[in-house]
Amino acid sequence: MTSQEIRQQFLDFFKSKGHLIVPSAPIVLKDDPTLMFSNSGMTQFKDYFLGYKEPKTPRIADTQKCLRVSGKHNDLDDVGRDTYHHTMFEMLGNWSFGDYFKKEAIDFAWELLTEVYKIPKENLYVTIFEGDASENLERDQAAYDFWKAHISEDRIINGNKKDNFWEMGESGPCGPCSEIHVDLRSEEEKAKTPGVQLINQDHPQVVEIWNNVFMEFNRKADGTLEKLPAQHVDTGMGFERLCMALQGKKSNYDTDVFTPLIAKVEELSGKKYEGILENEKDIAIRVVVDHIRAVAFAIADGQLPSNGGAGYVIRRILRRAISYSYRFLDMKEPFLYELVAVLKNQMGAFFPEMVKQEKLVTEVIKEEENSFLKTIESGLIRVEKLIQQTISETKKVLPSAEVFELYDTYGFPDDLTRIIAEEKGLTIDKEGFKEEMRKQKERSKKSSAQKVYDWVILEEKPETFVGYDQTSSETYITRYRKVENKDGEFFQIVLNKTPFYPEGGGQVGDKGILIPSYAEGFDLSNPAAFDRENSTEILEVLETKKENNLIISLVKELPKDAGALFYAEVNTADRKNTQANHSVTHLLHEALRDVLGTHVEQKGSYVGPEYLRFDFSHFSKMNEEELALVEEKVNAKIKENIPLQEFRNIPIQEALDKGAMALFGEKYGDNVRMIQFGSSRELCGGTHVKSTGEIGHFKLVAESSTAAGIRRIEAISGDKATEYFKNLENQLKEVSALLKSKDLVKSIEKLLEENAALKSEVEALKKEKAKGEINDWKNAFVQKGDKQLLVKRTSLDAGSVKDIVFQLKKEIPNSVTIVISDAGEKPMITVGVSADLEANYHAGNIVKELAKEIQGGGGGNPGFATAGGKNLAGIENALNKALEI
Ligand code: ATP
Ligand code: MG
Repeated sequence: MTSQEIRQQFLDFFKSKGHLIVPSAPIVLKDDPTLMFSNSGMTQFKDYFLGYKEPKTPRIADTQKCLRVSGKHNDLDDVGRDTYHHTMFEMLGNWSFGDYFKKEAIDFAWELLTEVYKIPKENLYVTIFEGDASENLERDQAAYDFWKAHISEDRIINGNKKDNFWEMGESGPCGPCSEIHVDLRSEEEKAKTPGVQLINQDHPQVVEIWNNVFMEFNRKADGTLEKLPAQHVDTGMGFERLCMALQGKKSNYDTDVFTPLIAKVEELSGKKYEGILENEKDIAIRVVVDHIRAVAFAIADGQLPSNGGAGYVIRRILRRAISYSYRFLDMKEPFLYELVAVLKNQMGAFFPEMVKQEKLVTEVIKEEENSFLKTIESGLIRVEKLIQQTISETKKVLPSAEVFELYDTYGFPDDLTRIIAEEKGLTIDKEGFKEEMRKQKERSKKSSAQKVYDWVILEEKPETFVGYDQTSSETYITRYRKVENKDGEFFQIVLNKTPFYPEGGGQVGDKGILIPSYAEGFDLSNPAAFDRENSTEILEVLETKKENNLIISLVKELPKDAGALFYAEVNTADRKNTQANHSVTHLLHEALRDVLGTHVEQKGSYVGPEYLRFDFSHFSKMNEEELALVEEKVNAKIKENIPLQEFRNIPIQEALDKGAMALFGEKYGDNVRMIQFGSSRELCGGTHVKSTGEIGHFKLVAESSTAAGIRRIEAISGDKATEYFKNLENQLKEVSALLKSKDLVKSIEKLLEENAALKSEVEALKKEKAKGEINDWKNAFVQKGDKQLLVKRTSLDAGSVKDIVFQLKKEIPNSVTIVISDAGEKPMITVGVSADLEANYHAGNIVKELAKEIQGGGGGNPGFATAGGKNLAGIENALNKALEI
């Protein structure tokens, strides 16, 4: 059975059991400050478990792209070293939201594995939660009894809290789980050691394939458990492991999920994959074919490699692959990007984003490879220096701080440093390195750590966003919680009717104020009259963000009476500028596609009150004409004063049929909001102007590149654009005052001409002066031993000195000329030896010796040499030393 068929059978099976099949959510999460990547199938359904959102149907199944490279679930270090953990993998899952529970989940799993997939029953084992006294949790007897109906009791194994109590993170939904393990060993091995002894023992052929989690609890921030209002089922089966079991293989890498990729690596590297566990070449090949999937899918989902956050995690994964292939596959040129086409052929049918984004993914990976290979090359030079220095200090161990710096600042792999050091008989201090790493983690943790307390629920009112229609609202606080971070203590609050737009879709979150209805002098029927300046009871809303489905505003302190009625008001000056920038971003997007072509797709954006930034796929620098044309088109649309057409809640298909632009890696619901300005249509949750005339004017201020195949435009609009032109005008006025002229171009041309004439005059004068000097210098030679010696200090520039020294060494036989010039801030030594003395004196060696006095270095041939230095104060010593030559 091919992997494609295996995936399809899973989905078909659960469809036949009344489940709705949904697509995988993007691998990169956008609205979740607690998690960077989908790390299990349930991530996209978190809101359902937490009760923030109602599931549209109680039974769902899918395959989810997962990434386990950070946070609570991090398998990165094992990947490549074992045969069944991946960075990115597919998790097949079925869910019940308050519908069926343990019995049906267990029955479904058993039926699928033994009757559809026909895994021999004697190869299966299951585990159940044994209970935990410290948490006051009982053994999962119900699961045990349901399993007993299918499988003999000696194959039902008790598991402890670590293995059999699943938790999403430090807090959140959790519950006992029941795993299914499969024993893939040969009959011979099975006879030697019973499988039951190898469950959860990290045996590569006795592995967990499926976990059925029974969500019953919520872990609160204080560590205690509370019962969830309803019981849910959340299951996850490793697709690649299932393929291994069904295709009769002993390693995930021997399934058709990986073999085409491995074949391509073999072809490109000329190295054969032998599937040996501890062989470094084989580890490297596994690392490469694993990591390319993670990186390619992340990029296709809109996460480009970068220097921070999720982008940095992706960059590090790619660099891990490059450094393994550099070391163990001898791949010193980019090649990983060539695997993208293979991946597309394999996965594209099910994951169309891989087909659509192939070119971009390929370009980005190639560029990353190029730049990291350069880093490796320059790192090699640094390592060499470090080794020489260590040897010269007669030490045997490279200093940890420097090895760590190479790794951390320059991205140079520590393993590579170790290998090179060992070749020279040195070692690196592994413990010291770990310590540096720990210190670094500590530092970054301190700067980002945030302690979040449990919600305090005040009102069971529905929480709605009213900010599309109004910028103020009467409202209650429905819940609040305390958070502590490096800036101090704050409170997050949720309002039942909030006008505050939460950061999202590139648009910054709203700021504003909350006025308690009990504030002295406040009249709800006339809020405008309230004296905002002098009230001490106003709460300032510092920022507004979204966490999953909740809109959370941040305030410094809680009001005296949190249960009172409030008047919420958005900072409308900022909001107005921000929405002008947002609407103009849509016009810009359309204009770019008009001018450059429809390959232009949004890859990121920032929309704030001051300016906007727009990243998009395009493969070359935009020229002046293109930029001017784009600007012109946008401004034409502004002038047309096109009214906003907002479709707040239309079926996604209808919007797409109308030609609305959707973004890759964005998770859209069944119903979407579409923003239309004439022919520009986008799926968008942001706030916008009522008609394009409000934007005023659009001005591009910069165009640059952020990554291979990605261009960035920065622009301003409205008041900021007016200000920009005003500033330009003022500058021109100042310049014209300085030049005392109205015709600036002509005046500047004239200035430049004059300047050029003056320059050549100065050059000529300099030459003249040097000529005068040369006679004085000739007379200053003195006979010393076998030679005519001139030692001279001068303030002539380097070019003139060089000319003179050359002339002197030619004209004066048996001569050595040593000139030290102090023109500028850095001293410079020039030495000339006449040809007939070159056998006795070596200008290069002399210069090296003298340069020590001025903390410099340099060299040259026997006849002529120069050295630059740092220490002007050393010139006297150098002159004295020169006389000794
Ligand atoms: P393991 O103990 O093998 O790491 P886990 O307990 O972390 O597994 P779960 O979090 O229960 O696994 O995930 C559900 C299923 O997903 C597992 O049964 C397994 O088949 C699969 N799985 C988990 N992690 C990985 C991974 N890194 N690569 C491939 N498949 C995985
Ligand atoms: Mg694990």
